[in-house]
Amino acid sequence: MNFIQTRGYDATKPKTVSFSQAILSPIASFGGLYVPQTLPNLGEEFLDKHLNSSYKELASDMLSRFEIDIEKSVIDEALALYDKFDDALNPVPVVKVKENLYVSELYHGPTRAFKDMALQPFGVVLSSIAQRNNENYLILAATSGDTGPAALETFKNRANVQVACLYPDGGTSDVQRLQMVTEDAKNLKVIGINGVFDDAQNALKKLLASEDFKSALKEKNILLSAANSVNFGRIIFQIIYHIHSYLELTRQGAIVMGEKVYLNVPSGNFGNALGGYYAWKMGVPVEKIIISSNENNVLTKLIKTGKYDLRDSKVVSTTSPAMDILKSSNVERILFDMFGDVRTRELMENLEKENYYELTSDELVKLQECFDADFCDGDEGKKYIKDTFTNDNYLMDPHTATCLKSYETCSNPAIKTIVYSTAEWTKFSPVIANALTGEVDAQDIVALQAISKEAKLEIPAMIQGLFSKKIVQDTIIEKEDIEKEILKFL
Ligand SMILES: *Cc1c(COP(=O)(O)O)cnc(C)c1O
Repeated sequence: MNFIQTRGYDATKPKTVSFSQAILSPIASFGGLYVPQTLPNLGEEFLDKHLNSSYKELASDMLSRFEIDIEKSVIDEALALYDKFDDALNPVPVVKVKENLYVSELYHGPTRAFKDMALQPFGVVLSSIAQRNNENYLILAATSGDTGPAALETFKNRANVQVACLYPDGGTSDVQRLQMVTEDAKNLKVIGINGVFDDAQNALKKLLASEDFKSALKEKNILLSAANSVNFGRIIFQIIYHIHSYLELTRQGAIVMGEKVYLNVPSGNFGNALGGYYAWKMGVPVEKIIISSNENNVLTKLIKTGKYDLRDSKVVSTTSPAMDILKSSNVERILFDMFGDVRTRELMENLEKENYYELTSDELVKLQECFDADFCDGDEGKKYIKDTFTNDNYLMDPHTATCLKSYETCSNPAIKTIVYSTAEWTKFSPVIANALTGEVDAQDIVALQAISKEAKLEIPAMIQGLFSKKIVQDTIIEKEDIEKEILKFL
């Protein structure tokens, strides 16, 4: 299977690339992205066949339908990492919360957030391509808290890959910071920045585009790559759990095969939702995909009005920080799929130049056939956390809680909903403790204990252990010094 480009072809790059090429350099012509030339059509036959398969069997068969240029032994090694999730037999439990509402828990991996679903196998795949090509890669990551730990965890001690991970000092939770600064491996460098997440992100973008930086790396025989969520090597692993969740509902007798369901996704960069859209196109029966946001609600406005408008918007900090995003990169792949490359290029160039684009009314109708959306602010989110805990004895994190609002406002209650839960309560404990007990500004360790007592849940060992682990990554610098610091590490 080859990959084509969302903004057409500018003659500076090959017209089509292989999967491994799309992974190594994910930016396509005119600054676009790579997408599969066609999606495999799985159909009901595939779903029937895998009704009783394990997660890994399902994943392995689905990936084989993409006919990607990765050896089966590498895929097997990548998928074996799901064995290290809480339950090797069921890495993604789907739990009934109340009548017609099910939660697919994507956070049972090593760093307790859904980034592990894709980044765990991605690390194996990327390292194997680098070894096969006899190349060495520097992976840059900028994080507001979840991508960093997951990227460090997956690349730790992997051959032919080094990681430099930038985070805003003081801008992440204690747990997220400890997950990064206690990572001890020769090929990992964690750098705290005096600044906010945007400073880290802008520094990363500058380095990725800098010819000087690239030639300095070249002298050391190192190539540059990024593990951000536009990489199709991550997206491909995010299709699987949507198929799995549908099959789980069927296995549990909640639906019959062929019955349509809502997928309700807490969204930031739209990778998770895009995985659901592809699963739908490949044959999973879906009624609609509901996009849930926080106060940074550009996606809700896009889906309700057809306008992507950043002219008066500024990112605001919320209680669900992994969704504090205004330029939602993977929306571009939906535009391409619905409206083609010429139109996608036009819209994306408008967004880059004018901070704005507007769909035609026909285009909006098409978008709304597939998507609906709503947003939920922090106080509403806390109320959903508290109410769902009190009434249904289910504890969810603030990202997942945004889905409860759109579940009420966007869906037909007679149709089953799968809400995707993207983080364990342990990662955002101060907000949850505040929701449950009114405790304010608690340190993570205090909040964890308060929730543990209130909800009678144990703090998982990998979270508890962080507080006594040695801090080995103690670099904190000004943003002007990032490049120098990274070159020193290499
Ligand atoms: C990354 C993340 C999201 C957003 O996912 P996208 O695929 O970027 O839309 C939501 N919740 C949590 C906890 C995350 O870490």
